[in-house]
Amino acid sequence: MFKTVKGFHDIFGKDIEYWEKLERNLKNILNTYGFREFRLPILEKTAVFNRGIGDTTDIVEKEMFSFIDNDGDSVSLRPEGTASLIRAYIENGLTNQVGVKKFFYIGNMFRRERPQKGRFRQFTQMGVEVLECDSPLLDAEIISLLDNISKGVGIDEFTSIEINSIGCKDCRPIYKEKLIEYFQAHIDSLCDDCKRRLSKNPMRIIDCKKDSCKVISKDAPIVLDYICSECNNHFNKVKKYLDDIGTKYTVNSRMVRGLDYYIRTAFELVTDKLGAASAVGGGGRYDGLVKLMGGKDVSGIGFAVGMDRIVALMKEIEEIQERKTDVFVIFFEGKSFEYGLKLINDLRKINKSVEYDYSISSMKSQMKKANRSGAKYAVIFGENEVDAGMASIKDLETGNQFEKNINELVDFFNNIN
Ligand code: AMP
Repeated sequence: MFKTVKGFHDIFGKDIEYWEKLERNLKNILNTYGFREFRLPILEKTAVFNRGIGDTTDIVEKEMFSFIDNDGDSVSLRPEGTASLIRAYIENGLTNQVGVKKFFYIGNMFRRERPQKGRFRQFTQMGVEVLECDSPLLDAEIISLLDNISKGVGIDEFTSIEINSIGCKDCRPIYKEKLIEYFQAHIDSLCDDCKRRLSKNPMRIIDCKKDSCKVISKDAPIVLDYICSECNNHFNKVKKYLDDIGTKYTVNSRMVRGLDYYIRTAFELVTDKLGAASAVGGGGRYDGLVKLMGGKDVSGIGFAVGMDRIVALMKEIEEIQERKTDVFVIFFEGKSFEYGLKLINDLRKINKSVEYDYSISSMKSQMKKANRSGAKYAVIFGENEVDAGMASIKDLETGNQFEKNINELVDFFNNIN
């Protein structure tokens, strides 16, 4: 028997109801904020991610599904959406259009991480990116959007917003020096990955989930003590605007985010309900990334939420019933055949979900199939009834059965929910 690839999974049945509800809610909320959808390819040149995410991140170093295609290009399944979106924004000349650019995408991402609760190798993200605006009011709006998404999909009782400033290209090097100095003194206790990170990307050590590294990180210098006055001003404004908007948050001075491209504002939507997978969503400001990827020097900010994780939380909160067939139509060879097919067609035209027995078996067998289908109603075109222009409707939940004129059937179902 074939099995899915490790870390990949099928989504079907009742779960589809959660996914569809989530997607609908997300799109409604995003529309109220003026976001427009972007559909990006799943496969990109590997260089897009090397440049856009950063060579020293875990994602680029060891988590991408990359291969050389027959043209000799190195290509990768996308591990996140921001780098692809920036590539698309530059390639399609969107910089030259007027107005603030607000985009969202929904799609599968691929990372070769160790699978565990809430962590998969194929997962789905909804991400937003806003380009060409560096106002701290936008930072606050984007963070409050993340908070409103949590409220809008009903998982806010399990989540909270954390924010931080991780400085800019002027002040972060000073902080990195301090970190290197601190961790150097504890190098023997760091895990092998963190030993490697020490010179290249010491902020990642603070993110390390290994207990031994966590203990050491606890007393490491914090970034907020080292940010420059511009970054500090920006951060203070973001906090003030969040208060003005009414979005609750806590400052987590140890949250540094995994990706290289963030500057200043970083934020996460966190939960304690999913074990080690504590982030439901996260993002930050990335002024400079567009230029780094070959475009103009414009600013940007964005975040992504993990939809698999949101679905897991939605399941804790509400039980959604799997969608039911509305009507099972029972009919036979002869005169009722024509009536049966016509009703099926007419009901589908008014958006009812309809099933029937393709083998047109006996009454008893069709009734059994109707009951098993989970349909709310059965319509029965018995030969004698049809001669009199009538059909029976059976409520399969209560067992009640009554006759209706064949011409009134569509109206009857049209008036039901
Ligand atoms: P990131 O792009 O790493 O900032 O991740 C944004 C969000 O995507 C996280 O907060 C998670 O909810 C989700 N996510 C990231 N990696 C995974 C994964 N391997 N499996 C499931 N969800 C993930």
